[in-house]
Amino acid sequence: MPQLQRITIASSQFHNQHITLTTEQQHYLYRVLRLQSGDRFIAMDGMGKWWLAQLADTEAQILQSITVKTELPIAVTLIIALPKGSGFDEIVRYCTELGVTCFVPVLSDRTLLNPSPQKLERWQRIVKEAAEQSERTTVPTILEPVSFCSSLSLVAKQKYICEARGDYPHLLSCLENKEDWESNFNEEKTIVIATGPEGGWTETEIEDAIKAGFQPVSLGRRILRAVTAPIVALSLVAAAHEI
Ligand code: SAH
Repeated sequence: MPQLQRITIASSQFHNQHITLTTEQQHYLYRVLRLQSGDRFIAMDGMGKWWLAQLADTEAQILQSITVKTELPIAVTLIIALPKGSGFDEIVRYCTELGVTCFVPVLSDRTLLNPSPQKLERWQRIVKEAAEQSERTTVPTILEPVSFCSSLSLVAKQKYICEARGDYPHLLSCLENKEDWESNFNEEKTIVIATGPEGGWTETEIEDAIKAGFQPVSLGRRILRAVTAPIVALSLVAAAHEI
């Protein structure tokens, strides 16, 4: 299939075999992309499905569904202590490209920033664009920022907290134990990984995480920036599970 433009469509816009396009989408398709009635594009619902669609004035007709396999074989939730400035913009863009499922922005003891409500909307826009760009079928979710403490109650099969100092096993060596996954078909296949802010986690936060079932892990011998750490962690998960 030729390279077609991908657009995320809300489920309320689907009616039988038709899609009602919003004014914004019409503007994007006709004015920005310069498509015309009769031209084709890919409609994604952001929840795992793609369709080939054909423009017809203010609507689009669904021609066929398309099967794509671009998602990771497991779900990855990233708990990320909000970094300074626009650091989280970078994290959401790159981690969406790498296949993250869910972002949990958290306010930790050493977090400097309390994000404005407009930030969440901005991150959601970045995630949608990055998912379309990377040909993903699922648009990752971003939860409202919560305290680090409440994020610890997340339920998952494997939970890791990345700690820059200390003698902890490497995340990759923990992930390599894949038989564990294969023998549990019915269990939800989710990995949770937490990364800290510029100032790192406090000792109490690490202790609380361990009590909640998190394994502290290393990402190597160098100290990574708060923005780099989740990207590295996710790359390791993708490498370990996609081979
Ligand atoms: N200022 C802190 C480092 C913070 S780095 C210090 O000097 O100790 C920001 C976050 O990235 C850390 O909290 C950790 O979650 C993650 N991180 C950075 N480098 C890491 C490494 N080598 N191994 C594991 N996690 C790391």
